[in-house]
Amino acid sequence: MARVVVITGPSGVGKGTLIRALRDRIPELELSVSATTRAPRPGEKHGEDYWFLSRDEFEKRVDEGGFVEWAEYSGNKYGTLRSELDLRVADDRPVLLEIEVQGARQVAETMPEALRIFIAPPSADTLRTRLVGRGTDAKEAIDRRLQVSEEELAAQPEFPVVVINDRLEDAIDELTRVVREGIDEARSA
Ligand code: 5GP
Repeated sequence: MARVVVITGPSGVGKGTLIRALRDRIPELELSVSATTRAPRPGEKHGEDYWFLSRDEFEKRVDEGGFVEWAEYSGNKYGTLRSELDLRVADDRPVLLEIEVQGARQVAETMPEALRIFIAPPSADTLRTRLVGRGTDAKEAIDRRLQVSEEELAAQPEFPVVVINDRLEDAIDELTRVVREGIDEARSA
């Protein structure tokens, strides 16, 4: 049984930075490339950052049962393609999903053996500062994301593992430890 690792948490909490560092530390951990209907940000590549699909294409895949989970987030659809997981799980390669909270809830139902980790900010204020500082979204998009973030923060107790992203190095250490343990456990099961 290969390990499926789910990392979730509110937008702006620093999931991207943590995951990059985590993958440097655990190179065997492969990232599942999600599908989305959102437009690419400058520099984002189709098939690397996301599979960028039209709404029609996305919906067609939903109807065909092509997604392990999917959710509407801030006006766009995001989902984990079954094909991204099947390949790696068949080869016994640990795979990481970086998804929002609604999707992580679906995974809890359909793949209860998956390791689910919630990344939390040290305080709610940190999120606005980070979202604004990142400069990748327009003000309206940031406001919308912050609204969603509050709802997402409330989901924290649903997750068996919570890593607080306060000091980056500490959060990376903690996340690496938890994921490494999870992979080893699945191997020896
Ligand atoms: P962004 O637009 O900033 O790339 O992503 C917005 C949110 O969608 C983030 O919280 C990210 O984790 C989430 N997301 C990315 N891919 C997926 C996916 O495949 N499924 C779900 N449910 N959420 C996703």
